[in-house]
Amino acid sequence: MNNSIFSFPTPKNEKIKTYKSLSKERFLLEECYDKMYKKKIDIPQYIGGKEIFSEKKIEIKPPHDNKNIVGYWNKGNKKDLLNAIDSCLNAKKKWNKLSWENRASIFLKIADLISGPYRYEINAATMIGQSKNIYQAEIDAIGEMVDFIRFNVKYMELIYKNQPNSSDKVWNRLEYRPLEGFLLAITPFNFTAISGNLPLCMAMMGNVVIWKPSNKQIYSANILMKIFKKAGLPDGVINMVLIDGKSISDIVLNHPDFSGVHFTGSTEVFNYLWKKIGSNINLYKNYPRIVGETGGKNFIWSDNTINYNELITAIIRGAFEYQGQKCSAISRAYLPRSIWKKFKHLLLKEVKTIKLGSPRDFNNFINAVIDNNSFERIKGYIERAKKNNDIKLLCGGVYDKTIGYFIYPTIFITKDPNCEIMIEEIFGPVLTIFIYEDKEWENCLNIINNTSKYALTGSIFSNNRYIIEKASNILRNSAGNFYINDKPTGAIVGQQPFGGSRLSGTNDKSGSFINLLRWTSIRTIKENFDPDKKYSYYFMD
Ligand code: NAD
Repeated sequence: MNNSIFSFPTPKNEKIKTYKSLSKERFLLEECYDKMYKKKIDIPQYIGGKEIFSEKKIEIKPPHDNKNIVGYWNKGNKKDLLNAIDSCLNAKKKWNKLSWENRASIFLKIADLISGPYRYEINAATMIGQSKNIYQAEIDAIGEMVDFIRFNVKYMELIYKNQPNSSDKVWNRLEYRPLEGFLLAITPFNFTAISGNLPLCMAMMGNVVIWKPSNKQIYSANILMKIFKKAGLPDGVINMVLIDGKSISDIVLNHPDFSGVHFTGSTEVFNYLWKKIGSNINLYKNYPRIVGETGGKNFIWSDNTINYNELITAIIRGAFEYQGQKCSAISRAYLPRSIWKKFKHLLLKEVKTIKLGSPRDFNNFINAVIDNNSFERIKGYIERAKKNNDIKLLCGGVYDKTIGYFIYPTIFITKDPNCEIMIEEIFGPVLTIFIYEDKEWENCLNIINNTSKYALTGSIFSNNRYIIEKASNILRNSAGNFYINDKPTGAIVGQQPFGGSRLSGTNDKSGSFINLLRWTSIRTIKENFDPDKKYSYYFMD
């Protein structure tokens, strides 16, 4: 047992590689991608450190090459889920007693393995399985993932060091306990980093976790599980189950030791989970913690004082990078009439240069949407908009799924700020523009604030400080991440803690100490060195 109070230096954000043509990293990445593409891997569940295979093998096909099989995943059943819960509760006996610095060492090693020897494999898996170009894969699976881990280790230290005041003859202390029972992480398809961070940050605080990744992200989730093991994460601390949502609610949310859920995904699924937990509330030994980051309908607004190229770049990157499948992606834009004619010409000219196709071809800026369901859903929005007399197609509106689920960057202009495509989350490369009369700028900001039930991200562009202040005030509750003269995507851990309110989630800011606090249960300890010896008070003498 040591007597030191350890400290971890404040981390720096992971350096992003450029993958320029003829660079060493480009060569290594391409080599890894091609090797993985030729293989057909068989991905098990990981329960109590064991690899569990089943009769039900589901094909994994890259979204941009939807006839090619790169592997299979083994679908689990309710019995596997029960075993996973037992394995969590067993692992907990030792894990929640391990000193924090020993836990921290495991996580720092995971970060180093991702940043170092596994860099190309996890990037290639994200490119193949989720159809991300190399830049999108690198900022997600490497940059954000490594930052989440290293910054969380620092935040864990700062949380544990946070102690209350003490008075004469009294010493007050806070003990940060793991939650009793076990926790559940349910993760989305669109970010490898979110998928890894949700179970990891709960485990970091001494908890044990059932992790259910999205069926559409299993290819890269599998590599994360291998890395966790290699770094020395004990068996059973994180159990990866490949199971349908219904079994999760039937088994996990019905268990008395269920202590909380860390969810990222759609508002609809989160609402379902919340209701289920509410109706089971009498079953549980503790009130479960419920943390969810959900959908968005993110906006960009500009006045007429802006630089055209800056706004065009923000719109193109914000709306179309990763095919608009970022929770933070822009899907509604509000622009003043006075700039529109020239701006439209420049914007459309630039959008025409965007290339679309496989992420293996480095000329492509955008790739395929995640699967057939998504393709059909986005297509539905496009077709309904084409039929609406208040809406005009400016570019795109074309799609093709013969090779992969490709949808061209699509821009509509609408006269109705309350039409379907201005309100609902589309989660695809579709942007709708509303033109406002310059003198109506304040009114337009109020429209933005009142149109959507979401409040995740949003941007304003202006070079007029009075307008910036006014717009920031009107839009105060419209976005949990608010950007001035920048696109609203690409939040960086340690710099822009991420999350939104309204129907965008509980705003517990992933990548910050605020989120970690949800995964600890504080015990306040008061020690009295001189307890009173009489019950009566002075006023009674
Ligand atoms: P999704 O809601 O379809 O799925 C998310 C997860 O929930 C998956 O693992 C899925 O299998 C699981 N799930 C589905 N039904 C379930 C049920 N009945 N019970 C238990 N689990 C169930 O979301 P998705 O398509 O993977 O991701 C896209 C959505 O996620 C978008 O709405 C996007 O805005 C949101 N998102 C939000 C953030 C954020 O930080 N706010 C980040 C990423 C994604």
